[in-house]
Amino acid sequence: MATKKVKNKVNKAKINKKNKKAKLAVKREKKVIIDTNKLLRLEEARKYVIDIAGEKGLEVFEFLIAKGEMEENLLAKKLKFEKANAIRKFLYRLYNKNLVSYRKIRKNNKAWYTYFWGANPEKLVFIIREMYEEEIKQTKKSMELNKAEDFYVCDICNRRYDVNEGLQNDFRCKNDGGVLTHLESSKILEDKQSRIDFLDKKLNALKQLVK
Ligand SMILES: [Zn+2]
Repeated sequence: MATKKVKNKVNKAKINKKNKKAKLAVKREKKVIIDTNKLLRLEEARKYVIDIAGEKGLEVFEFLIAKGEMEENLLAKKLKFEKANAIRKFLYRLYNKNLVSYRKIRKNNKAWYTYFWGANPEKLVFIIREMYEEEIKQTKKSMELNKAEDFYVCDICNRRYDVNEGLQNDFRCKNDGGVLTHLESSKILEDKQSRIDFLDKKLNALKQLVK
């Protein structure tokens, strides 16, 4: 009984491994091509990379995009890092966000591995896209709230009225007869809508980067 369980577990693990491999294969096939020149000119994209890995990190990322996969020591040399491991700090920061990845190879049966690093610009497109989409989502949500709280305000004393109170008083203030105007919310909504339009345009421009 116990051995059967173990066997089942082992089989399951094997199947999972197989599935994982299959998934990886699909992922690789789907690798998209990015207009990296345009991507690296996008202010948000540059800012994001600088925020996570600093100016030097951006330099490493840009270099890998331009030159393709490169062996770690050579990369450090080309970018004039004093020591090979000085560049690792930057590579790891980028790696944490999936912006670079590595392959390790054991050469000539040596005890240590040689690392080859490559950039994943498509991940940056994905991250920026998510940022835009999240802001659009949040802005839409807050617009719903703005619509829900439909207030009117007296133009003399600033007393607030909700719609019902406003209607009851012919949109005049009970205190001083001042005119009740729709509390800025229309202006706020307008501003938010134009922010959404702006982000939508950005999103479209981002989609154009994917070939
Ligand atoms: Zn008033």
